[in-house]
Amino acid sequence: MAFKGEGKIWMNGQFVDWKDANIHVCSHVVHYGSSIFEGIRAYNTSRGSAVFRLKAHIDRLFNSAKIYRMDIPYSVDDLIEASLETIRLNKLQECYIRPVVYRGYDSLGVDPRPCPVDVAIAVWEWGKYLGPEALENGVEVCVSSWSRIAPNTLPAMAKCGANYMNSQLIKMEAIARGCVEGIALDNVGNVSEGSGENLFIVRDGALITPPFDASILPGITRNTVMTLAGEFGYKVIEANIPREALYIADEVFFTGSAAEITPISMIDKIVIGSGKRGPVTEKLQTRFFEYLSGDVADTYKWLDFVYDKEKVQA
Ligand code: PMP
Repeated sequence: MAFKGEGKIWMNGQFVDWKDANIHVCSHVVHYGSSIFEGIRAYNTSRGSAVFRLKAHIDRLFNSAKIYRMDIPYSVDDLIEASLETIRLNKLQECYIRPVVYRGYDSLGVDPRPCPVDVAIAVWEWGKYLGPEALENGVEVCVSSWSRIAPNTLPAMAKCGANYMNSQLIKMEAIARGCVEGIALDNVGNVSEGSGENLFIVRDGALITPPFDASILPGITRNTVMTLAGEFGYKVIEANIPREALYIADEVFFTGSAAEITPISMIDKIVIGSGKRGPVTEKLQTRFFEYLSGDVADTYKWLDFVYDKEKVQA
């Protein structure tokens, strides 16, 4: 989806017009990938627009910054409020929220420390990531010939711009092979994750998902699904998954803020389970969307309402 190029972007504490939210071509980030970021969504619930798990995302942003020794010149609360204010100013209901922290303009040595730590928050309208039918029918994916970044190369637990060079290779190869998305293995050959999603398999009624040491991003939707699985009494196991376990799983699905809970119907042309969204996936999806609808109690305080706080608290 191309940008409309309208509205305001929060940049270092100021709102600037979309067209003026520019950085210098000699900024450190342009040359060395020195950015960290988040991808967050606001949903139009029955009680008004609400951001899903905003604090968890901003906390992860600060964790990414810590790993890269970046001192963000704002607090968690500042960036939570700035995110909500940016949505309000742009008068959006359902949207994507992209906070990005990057090494800015000063000098171009590899050492980033002389360069300022700049922060921006952009928001825009956003539809379904893997296509509108994906949530129901599932998607066709393939195992990538590219491995996920190995430990001791780039830290997968940090959501760093540079990691997405690896994601781009995975995604472009998948598309070239006629698939919607690729699944990367880790450096020892176990399942890691998609280019922008975590992955679960369902086997004999239990959920299995790769652990942090399989070079995954600690996904917030992954954590959400683990919580929801607990509500249904499903066992959730964080364990290494050999590639072939994908093919013989009862169900496989992706999780992510963009992908939400997307069933996988085919991997490397092998039909997964029934070839349709499986019953466990459907149950988790339904519960997930119930929480996002605002119609059920916000048990875990996952929703931050954007407008009209009083109405929401009533
Ligand atoms: N892995 C990668 C590489 C991602 O980019 C994302 C999307 N942020 C995820 C997993 C899923 O994370 P989350 O559920 O927090 O969006």
